[in-house]
Amino acid sequence: MSGLGHNSDEIDFKKIRSEFPILNKKVNNKDLVYLDSAASAQKPKAVIDALNDAYLETYSNVHRGLHWLSEQSTFKYEEVRKKAANFLGASNSNEIIYGSGATHLINLIANSWGRKFLKPDDEIIITIADHHANIVPWQLVSQQTGSKIHAVPVDKDGNFDIKDMERLINKKTKIISVPHVSNVLGTVFPVKEIARLAHEVNAICIVDGCQGAIHLPVDVKDINCDFYTFSSHKLYGPSGVGVLWGRLSILQEMPPFLGGGDMIDNVEIDNSTYADPPHRFEAGTPPIAEVIGFGAAIDFVQQIGMKNIRDHEQKILKHFTKKLKEIKELSIIGNSSNKSGVISFLFDGAHPHDIATILDQKGIAIRAGHHCAQPLMKHFNISSTARASIGVYSKEEEVDALIEGLKTVKKLLG
Ligand code: PLP
Repeated sequence: MSGLGHNSDEIDFKKIRSEFPILNKKVNNKDLVYLDSAASAQKPKAVIDALNDAYLETYSNVHRGLHWLSEQSTFKYEEVRKKAANFLGASNSNEIIYGSGATHLINLIANSWGRKFLKPDDEIIITIADHHANIVPWQLVSQQTGSKIHAVPVDKDGNFDIKDMERLINKKTKIISVPHVSNVLGTVFPVKEIARLAHEVNAICIVDGCQGAIHLPVDVKDINCDFYTFSSHKLYGPSGVGVLWGRLSILQEMPPFLGGGDMIDNVEIDNSTYADPPHRFEAGTPPIAEVIGFGAAIDFVQQIGMKNIRDHEQKILKHFTKKLKEIKELSIIGNSSNKSGVISFLFDGAHPHDIATILDQKGIAIRAGHHCAQPLMKHFNISSTARASIGVYSKEEEVDALIEGLKTVKKLLG
């Protein structure tokens, strides 16, 4: 892939779109309109080629192998750690931990840091807008440690008010874990301010960046959080891999989460000593080719530039919002002025699942359901929404196709 440019004047989003072979597909005899990128993004040729290349040219297990293939594989695998650090604005690649995805990596923090440091009556603050991946791990650890969970609400438009969080913070607060961007509302959370509040009471701040790092430039030094995690498959990379950036001084204090090969220093039958971070947290054979493919995904978005991606997506989102607001039967769930990536909506007289099924007949892929955010659904007194989400390849014509599709929904169900 070349010539995608870095200067927004030169960015050719048509060309970028042509890098994604699957987008040329017909689904139900119609041109595919893929508006489900928040669940998982499609893959550019560069990522598919990197995966193929990893298997065709250099595949072998990583670390400790003395032969050429293992050295090649290890080199490529470890280079991605540096790319991920650079992508997140971190200066030390030892602060990057690979895992199977954000779910695994939030569980890692909960089980390692949480079980070591949380005491009865300590408090964990999350938000009502969190994905189950940033709720259930905290429930599991709070059941084991006797700590308590509080959730900051959002208002009827999906806005987050930092004052609501301030009211919950006190000396017992040990963890504040928040989404960078809500996967239902699209609300962008003020993570820098949240990190500052956490540090005022010596709590750690974790950012679930699954819907953030894919749409916005991220600089963990500027946010000044303690952990930031996201999954490769939402950033146009392979599934089965994600990264956690963690502050080294904190990682060094944390015990392993999973035990096995590659995470040890010395093993006796009744005791072991452990490797330093990041390997302490990476037991067993990792998804080697997928990590290498993830590196190609990072190169891909960096060649375009995250600022350019954000600007392009904001343009599509603006068009989308305007068009949806013209439909009187439709209400948008999540009307924050600072939104990214997703639009959830309800349509009078039509269940979200029926909307998704009717649109699918037209080749339009959206998502319907609770989006792994049941507490948020309950907060809004609904059980599900229809959700369209966009990516770097999205275009206004796709928004228009969905708007046309909604006319059929209205005819059939409205
Ligand atoms: N957090 C958010 C905000 C998400 O949107 C998702 C996935 O939809 C996750 C966490 C979990 O990601 P994964 O399933 O890749 O672990």
